[in-house]
Amino acid sequence: MPKKDPELDYKSPSTPNPFAPRFTEIATFMRMPIAQTLKDADIGIFGVPYDGALTNRAGTRHGPREVRNQSSLMRAINHATRINPFELARIRDMGDVPFTRMFEIEASHDEIEAFATMLLGADILPFAIGGDHSISLPLLRAIAKDGPVALIHIDAHADTTDSFQGSKFNHGAPFRRAVEEGLIDPAKTIQIGIRGTQNTSDGWDFSEASGMRVVFCEEFHEKGPAAIAAEARALVGDMPVYLTYDIDSLDPVYAPGTGTPEIGGMTTHQAQVLLRGLRNLNYVGADLVEVSPPFDAGDVTSLAGAALAFEILCLLAEVRSKRQS
Ligand code: MN
Ligand code: MN
Repeated sequence: MPKKDPELDYKSPSTPNPFAPRFTEIATFMRMPIAQTLKDADIGIFGVPYDGALTNRAGTRHGPREVRNQSSLMRAINHATRINPFELARIRDMGDVPFTRMFEIEASHDEIEAFATMLLGADILPFAIGGDHSISLPLLRAIAKDGPVALIHIDAHADTTDSFQGSKFNHGAPFRRAVEEGLIDPAKTIQIGIRGTQNTSDGWDFSEASGMRVVFCEEFHEKGPAAIAAEARALVGDMPVYLTYDIDSLDPVYAPGTGTPEIGGMTTHQAQVLLRGLRNLNYVGADLVEVSPPFDAGDVTSLAGAALAFEILCLLAEVRSKRQS
């Protein structure tokens, strides 16, 4: 018998295990295994630790790590829908996009696009945790290669403004660029929760002139999240749809840890009802962005991010399981 070499035979006991005590082990998204291969995943959650395109307070590069940490608090079954995403799909933490040129926005966007393209090539449904909102543009470039997709965009901001400080790719512009590049169909786009002061109305005007449905937060509060979800479902139909969730859609009471907070926003409960009203759409990808831990208080924003990411994961797992059968 050859003698065992403890150096070579060592296997970390900290392989994520959803039934281990929740405070133990290395934090991964939803306590899912870190992917070792592209062959055994249906849904890939990955971090995009990037904040090079922010126009105001930075810090979203720290988002993925803290959302991973707070996602340790998630358990398996959604109490409202009874969906257990982990039974419906093989979910893996794909790690973070490995940046090599973080000081260049366009190069970083190319690296994000390449990472998502790799997952899509392996038939893995991509779910990105950001990162500032500029990351949605390269993700859409990867996803919409065969033509424009529908978009459900939940945010305080329309993110359809133009250049800032000489860059067309700042975090306030991704969906203007996505329209220009033919990545999203503006007539099949709904923006939900829009509010806050602006210096010009250019972004809102672009959204409405291009044909997007813009639901300002006053209308959201008046009609309620279930009615707005029903409208979004009807608008999107069975078209391939991308879901993008900016944490600043929440009121700063619930999500102070973000770069551009706006009062008058959604409660966490309203956000849950809204997302639960978006079941069984033809999802081709999703992201949750703008969690900025340096501005957080008691981890409430990262917790909200993790809990809403769980809701989105339930949506993705449900449709992914039906696609396989
Ligand atoms: Mn945004
Ligand atoms: Mn925003």
